[in-house]
Amino acid sequence: MKRFEGRVAFITGASKGIGKAIAEKFAIEGAKLCIIDVDEQVLSKTFSEFKDKGFDVFHQVADVSKREQVEAFVDSAVKEFGKIDILVNNAGVIRDNLLFKMEDSDWDMVMNVHLKGSFNCARAVQRYMVDNKYGRIINLSSTSALGNRGQANYSTAKAGLQGFTKTLAIELGKFGITANAVAPGFIETDMTRATAKRIGISFEELVKHSVSQIPVGRSGKPEDIANAVLFFAMEESSFVNGQVLYVAGGPKA
Ligand code: NAD
Repeated sequence: MKRFEGRVAFITGASKGIGKAIAEKFAIEGAKLCIIDVDEQVLSKTFSEFKDKGFDVFHQVADVSKREQVEAFVDSAVKEFGKIDILVNNAGVIRDNLLFKMEDSDWDMVMNVHLKGSFNCARAVQRYMVDNKYGRIINLSSTSALGNRGQANYSTAKAGLQGFTKTLAIELGKFGITANAVAPGFIETDMTRATAKRIGISFEELVKHSVSQIPVGRSGKPEDIANAVLFFAMEESSFVNGQVLYVAGGPKA
């Protein structure tokens, strides 16, 4: 029996990068997938790829920061699959800049996607999870929550998600719902490719520099994060609640 047979997992921003790797691992382990993304083109490509692999997938273009879009998707996903057992708040953006150059729009965009988006999704799924007396909520934080130059907006949002996670853990625990966070370090995705571009170095140079700071001597891959997410999502992890797991190839606190 596969680890997530009979489970339904809702993953936001699942078209590429970490979200796609998480979705893929859940499906390989038997879960049905509900996926959303704002990027229509990449989403439909990923959807066809997943269908070709025989995964059971319900997908829609939706913006996590828009309450109506999230609620409409969650309601139709529950009509399709009967329930949602697992929510992974993965969708994310960066709008990096030093504080004195950061625009209001950079601040608002990052807060809206990470914080408002995770709030919208958690609120929308919790009523179904509470009815079922079962749920697993996993939020994507970051080592940037500990502070990172050029990321006043992003580090604030990622630290905020840790407080959000702990509060959900306290409020929802009695309904059989756990909430935990995974805080990745440097992971090779389009997000870190965009960082290399912004600071004007090649991606290879950025990877080399990052690896020099990572105790295990390699950069992270989306699958490294997916493995940690699956741990929190397991039925057997029911006593692990309100935790933040740094997955960064070395200690962080
Ligand atoms: P990515 O840019 O490769 O993928 C992010 C996905 O989210 C994209 O498909 C994008 O279209 C989608 N998205 C963006 N805004 C959205 C919205 N409003 N609604 C729905 N979907 C939206 O990024 P990634 O590196 O895979 O990052 C995934 C998560 O992991 C993010 O929350 C990110 O902050 C976090 N994270 C990444 C790293 C890293 O090194 N890559 C490190 C720490 C944390």
